[in-house]
Amino acid sequence: MHQYKGKLIIHTGSMFSGKTSSLEKDVKRFNIAGYKTVAFKPSVDTRYPKSEIRTHDNTTLNAVMVNNIIEICEYCKGYNPDVIAIDEVQFLGGNIQDIVGAINKFLEKGITVVLAGLDMDFTGQAFEIVKELMPIADYLYKHHAVCAKCGTDAWISHRKTKAQERIVIGATDEYEPLCRKCFLEEIK
Ligand SMILES: [Zn+2]
Repeated sequence: MHQYKGKLIIHTGSMFSGKTSSLEKDVKRFNIAGYKTVAFKPSVDTRYPKSEIRTHDNTTLNAVMVNNIIEICEYCKGYNPDVIAIDEVQFLGGNIQDIVGAINKFLEKGITVVLAGLDMDFTGQAFEIVKELMPIADYLYKHHAVCAKCGTDAWISHRKTKAQERIVIGATDEYEPLCRKCFLEEIK
């Protein structure tokens, strides 16, 4: 792992696919390898106690709550990490150019950036920031939950409620992972 300098690692996929667990595992491995790490999460994710990243498997990682990319840059100026992790990056505030620009600057400085984020919303539309970042990743992992209807690899987080807003924070009460075929049948 000592080769990881200035690498962009992205974990994406639907809800319940293990993105956050993978980010957490990466950070723990970097810690063991002696890297100075810091993890951030957007404050819009109010599901769990502040200053923790909690996975759906209930493991946790300490995290700094932020509203936008500017707060991440400010924090890192004083802290000088080797590795920056950002969970739920699709919720991060700031315009897309600023986020991509800031991440590129970290990478150019030799800082490794580990991101976890949803690729698509509940309708199948890409989250723009994840769409912009995926092609510039050094390592891109698409994770899969299990389709709640048929048991194959899931493709999307299907919203079970009627809410139409793009961002509704929730877990299994609100969302279920579905494969493309079951999703298309469900929305017919
Ligand atoms: Zn299915």
